[in-house]
Amino acid sequence: MNFTLTIDGQSVTAAESFPVLNPATEEVVAQCPAASAEQVEQAVAAAKRAFKSWKKTSREERNELIRKMGHTIEAHADELTRLITLEQGKPLANAREQEVLASVMWCHTVTEFDLPVKILEDTETHRSELHHRPLGVVAGITPWNYPLNTAVWKIIPALATGNTVVIKPSPYTPLATLRLGEIIKDIFPAGVVNIIAGGNEVGQMLSEHQDVNKITLTGSVPTGKKVMASAAMSNLKRVTLELGGNDPAIVMPDVDVASIIQPLFWFAFLNTGQVCIAIKRLYVHEDIYDAVCHGLVEYAKYIKVGDGLEEGSLLGPVQNGMQFEKVKAFAETVEKEGGRFLCGGKAEEGKGYFMPVSIAVDLNDDATLVKEEPFGPLLPILKFSDVEDAIERANDSNMGLGASVWCKDEAKAAEIAVQIEAGSVWINHHMAKKPTAPFGGMKESGIGVENSELGLAEFTNVQVIGYTKTTNATAEVQDA
Ligand code: NAD
Repeated sequence: MNFTLTIDGQSVTAAESFPVLNPATEEVVAQCPAASAEQVEQAVAAAKRAFKSWKKTSREERNELIRKMGHTIEAHADELTRLITLEQGKPLANAREQEVLASVMWCHTVTEFDLPVKILEDTETHRSELHHRPLGVVAGITPWNYPLNTAVWKIIPALATGNTVVIKPSPYTPLATLRLGEIIKDIFPAGVVNIIAGGNEVGQMLSEHQDVNKITLTGSVPTGKKVMASAAMSNLKRVTLELGGNDPAIVMPDVDVASIIQPLFWFAFLNTGQVCIAIKRLYVHEDIYDAVCHGLVEYAKYIKVGDGLEEGSLLGPVQNGMQFEKVKAFAETVEKEGGRFLCGGKAEEGKGYFMPVSIAVDLNDDATLVKEEPFGPLLPILKFSDVEDAIERANDSNMGLGASVWCKDEAKAAEIAVQIEAGSVWINHHMAKKPTAPFGGMKESGIGVENSELGLAEFTNVQVIGYTKTTNATAEVQDA
């Protein structure tokens, strides 16, 4: 398989390349072209040139092309699905549903959001209007857990609001995003969508670039801090940072245990736990603690962890060798810090980055697995007796992305939910990310939001146009 960069409407090769591995086999899927510094410059320059005319197109013209992009992704669903499984590891069904078809749905839904002109004042003497203007060149930097979806979440709101884009995927999973560039490049005028691959240094170049007006990053907290510093020190570019999470879930004693086992399991282990908004700390009331632990461990026995291409695999490998080492190191802390595994805890021998579903108990609140985000299939279950105490423990984190409350009594659940410091709190659910709901983190989980009209507005500058209706404007200025 050959892949190209998309720069200024052209498919281009690169002098250098790097291998992309299949995490299930550690075999090379393909060589990925690595953009040179000159090609990064060319991509930004193309986006800057294209912005001059793209910003003048109507919203309806842009929407039409975005919908076309949705249809094109759908037409290539089989190929993109397979590519995602090969490079990312997730099972085919998940790649199709959660990345490819979700991207299609997002393309159609975002076109329905609008940022109409708002009349702020309209009196006999004055009228003022609030407009949204595009920013210019937007650089989107994406992680390796949902490569295609995350790229699409950045491309469409940026384009819909009249910006042009340069996308840089993670070096671990660049292929589906490069393929996306190849299949959509003829839909848009040259330079409107540019896709370049490379290492972290390419992300840094974009963050520091004087002609990039906004960075939208999905990644880790340390990378977010670096990007924000580069953005500030270059041209004060706008940032939206979707960063890490250490989501707590609080399970109250009135729940029907049998009915929540499956959802709790999947909200913790989907995508092998490599989801920013996976449940990463499970606080369970002491009355039902043993039943919940038992239910999760029993359910885990039916879950096949394997190559995402294989029939029956429900969870894939950890996505890359670096992350695999990190997950193993997290697992090693459990017994050292007084905990024990009810299941899993030890990586599989042999080829591929396979870690079984691992559920740990008896850990203190200051244990590594509780304090930090493992981003893998490791879940600590923690006991509580007093809900106020559980809320305090849930909030004792530098992160605040998602959270959930599991409780039959909805009024009680709502009372708990509003006290949790997280950008999204779901009741009797988790991970319900929707195009209509603003998504973002509190504390170090990020800055700004994606999705909905609020997310769209983040790709714009606010501009107020003020009219003076009196014939005596000069006198007014003097009065002031
Ligand atoms: P990462 O921060 O290592 O990398 C993310 C992207 O940033 C990659 O494309 C990388 O090349 C680039 N990058 C790295 N250093 C850079 C720099 N100095 N300047 C500019 N770009 C740079 O993250 P990852 O390991 O790919 O992803 C896992 C993390 O992402 C986890 O912490 C997870 O919680 C988080 N995440 C957050 C969300 C969200 O929506 N909040 C979603 C998915 C993943």
